[in-house]
Amino acid sequence: MSVGDRDYKQIVREAIDSIGEDVQLKFDTKDPNIVYLHEATKCLRRSFYDRTEPLETEQTQFNKVLGGLFRKMKSQSTIGKYEMDSGLALKGQVDMIKDDVVLIFRSVNRYPENPLPADILYVNACMWMFDKIEGVVVYITPDGKEESFVTNRNQKMFEEVIRRTKVFHDLIERRNTDPKAKPPIIEPSIDCLDCQYYERCYIRKKEGKQITISSLFGKFGKEDTV
Ligand code: SF4
Repeated sequence: MSVGDRDYKQIVREAIDSIGEDVQLKFDTKDPNIVYLHEATKCLRRSFYDRTEPLETEQTQFNKVLGGLFRKMKSQSTIGKYEMDSGLALKGQVDMIKDDVVLIFRSVNRYPENPLPADILYVNACMWMFDKIEGVVVYITPDGKEESFVTNRNQKMFEEVIRRTKVFHDLIERRNTDPKAKPPIIEPSIDCLDCQYYERCYIRKKEGKQITISSLFGKFGKEDTV
C-alpha cells in the first residue's frame, strides 16, 4: 500500500481519541550502554549535559498537559530496542502504532513547513525499530489543531542515528573515566535559543549594553532636526 492510499487524517483522529492507562519510558541515564532515541536525535551536546551536569527546564503548561495525555495512551505507546555491537543498545518510544504506521506526537506553537529534523530522524528510527515502513509526525498546536507529515522508511537516516548513538556513547564513557573529558561539539541551530545550556556553549545572554543601529551609525531623521 502506498503513502497516498491511507487516510492518515482518520488514523490520527483515532489515535488522539484513544486514551488508555499510564505508561512512560523509564530513563536509566546511569547506564552508558543504553542510549535513548531522543538523546541521539537532538543536539548531542545537550543530551550529554542532560546526563552529566543537568540543568532543569521549565516546561510550558501546554507541553505538560500534552505530555500527560500521551503518557495515558498505554495500549498505544510502545518501547523498542535496537541492539548494536559490544552490548550497546538504542531504546526508543513510539507514541502509537496504528495499522502498521508508527506515529509520534509533538506540541508546537505553530506548524513548521517541514517536519523538524530531530522529529524526522526520530520517527524514521522508530520505523526501523518496529519494522514498519511508514511513519507520521503529528504536530499539535495549543488550540488543539493538528497537522501531520507522512514519511517512508529511509536507511541512510537510520545509519546517521546509529552513528550518533555510538559517538554519544563513546563520549559518555570517556567522561565516566575522566571528569575533564570534553563534551560533544556544539551543534548550532535555532534550538540553541531555547536551550538551557546556551551560556555553556556561547556567551551569557542579554549581557551589556544593547547595540542599536542608531548608536552604530549616528542618529538620523527626526532627532537630527531637534
Ligand atoms: S546551546 Fe545549542 S549547541 Fe549548546 S547544548 Fe544547547 S542546543 Fe546544543
